[in-house]
Amino acid sequence: MVDSVLSLQSLTVGFPGTTVVHDLNLEVADGAFVSLLGPSGCGKSTVLRTIAGLMPALGGRIVLEGRDLTSLPPERRNIGIVFQNYALFPTMTAFENIAFALRVAKKPKAEIERRVQDVAAMAGIADQLDKKPASMSGGQQQRVAIARSLVTGSRVLLFDEPLSNLDAKVRASMRQEIKRLQKELGFTAIFVTHDQEDALTMSDVIVVLNQGRIEQIGDGRTLYRKPATSFICEFIGLSN
Ligand code: ADP
Ligand code: MG
Repeated sequence: MVDSVLSLQSLTVGFPGTTVVHDLNLEVADGAFVSLLGPSGCGKSTVLRTIAGLMPALGGRIVLEGRDLTSLPPERRNIGIVFQNYALFPTMTAFENIAFALRVAKKPKAEIERRVQDVAAMAGIADQLDKKPASMSGGQQQRVAIARSLVTGSRVLLFDEPLSNLDAKVRASMRQEIKRLQKELGFTAIFVTHDQEDALTMSDVIVVLNQGRIEQIGDGRTLYRKPATSFICEFIGLSN
C-alpha cells in the first residue's frame, strides 16, 4: 500500500442533534490530488472544516504524517485551506495577505520577507505583491490564496469549491492552473466540489459522498466503468 500522508479513521462529525458525517475512512497518498465529490448538503465542507480544525470531530481520528491531529487547534495542524472566494483580506496587499499568519506567529521580519518572496516566486506572483486583491485577476487572487496557505509550511491544501462561482471558460483555465501549481509545488490536494467535471478532469482519486457517507472511492475511469451503486450512476451521469 502507498504511504499515506493523511488518514481519516472512522471520522464522525455533526452539529447538536444531527450527525452529518458518518464513520468516514480515507487514506490520502503523498502528492495526490483527491476530490470529495457529492451533491450540495452531503457533508463535503464539514469534512474539510474538520480536517482543518475549524470544527471538532465527534469521533474518530485525523492523522497527518503519523501525527494525531484530532485535538489540535487549526494553527498547529500545518494544513492550509483555500475557500470559495479565496477569502483574501481586501484592504491588504498580496504581500500582507501572504505574510499574515507569519506575523500572527511573530516570526522575525527578515524571515517573513524571505518566506513570502520564496513562495510568491514559486506561485508566479513575485511581481504582484504590492497589489490589493481587487486589482488582481481571479487567477492571480487564487495564486495569492494558495501562496498564503503554503507559506507556513503546509504540505496538504484543502480547497472548498474554489471554482463554483466562475463561468465555464474561466473555470476550465483555473482547473489547469491549480493542477499546474500542485505539480510544481508538490503539495497534496483535497478538493471539494459538487461538479463531476471538476472531479473527473483534476483528480487522481475521487471520493463520492452521499448523505455523509462514502459511496465509492476510485479514479474517474473506475467510477465510469464500474459504478458501485445506482447513486454513482445517476450522479456521474450514467444510466445503467
Ligand atoms: P456540502 O459542503 O456538501 O454542501 P455541508 O458540509 O455544508 O455540505 O453540510 C452538510 C450538512 O450539515 C447539511 O445537511 C447541512 O444542512 C448541515 N449543516 C451545515 N451547517 C450546519 C450548522 N451550522 N448547524 C446544523 N447543521 C448544519
Ligand atoms: Mg460546501
